[in-house]
Amino acid sequence: MQNLTIKMTKIELRQMFQNKRNLLKDDDIDHLTDKIIICLSEQLNLENKKTHIFLPITKKKEINTYKIIDLLRTKKCKIIIPKSDFKNNTLNHFEYTSDTEIKITEYGIPEPINGIETSINDLEIVFIPLLCFDIIGNRLGYGKGFYDRFLSTLSEDCLKIGLSHFDAFESLLPIDKFDIRLDYCITPNRVYSFI
Ligand code: ADP
Ligand code: MG
Repeated sequence: MQNLTIKMTKIELRQMFQNKRNLLKDDDIDHLTDKIIICLSEQLNLENKKTHIFLPITKKKEINTYKIIDLLRTKKCKIIIPKSDFKNNTLNHFEYTSDTEIKITEYGIPEPINGIETSINDLEIVFIPLLCFDIIGNRLGYGKGFYDRFLSTLSEDCLKIGLSHFDAFESLLPIDKFDIRLDYCITPNRVYSFI
């Protein structure tokens, strides 16, 4: 019985998980981020990878990915960050270097305002934001399908890694035909593998 699809809509689930997140204080986010970094560095090989990662939307209490980027830099990773196109609900991609200027957009998203738009053909790892995920790697995002569109363009070999404040939801999430599953999800408590 436990693994049946939950009878809640995506909208209700998003609200529930954003509400749960909103109870977290800045210190909690820092602490959860540090625990995620420990799980990540202990259990995944990050050396020298071409890596895509989002910058954190503070008002949505996202994991502090600036700290994860610091870790990735020590591992000599190349860092690519997204810039959202809200007309098409798609992402464009930019190399993130010490020269990249970041500005917070009207949506509260830190995004590059200059820099080199870059190819995503040979990406090896993508870190993915989410509101919740389940025990088979289904993922619920913010509801615009940005990442489903982006992930559908990547090679099979690219690892799709979710970052989550909370452990897996105990029931299966509702999904539709465009939803793309995660390969891994990192939480402050553990690494889930779905491959
Ligand atoms: P999220 O993944 O952000 O939680 P949804 O999965 O609900 O959001 O997707 C939002 C909308 O985007 C849905 O109507 C979905 O059908 C659409 N969508 C997602 N991926 C694609 C795609 N690759 N092509 C066309 N539409 C897509
Ligand atoms: Mg989706």
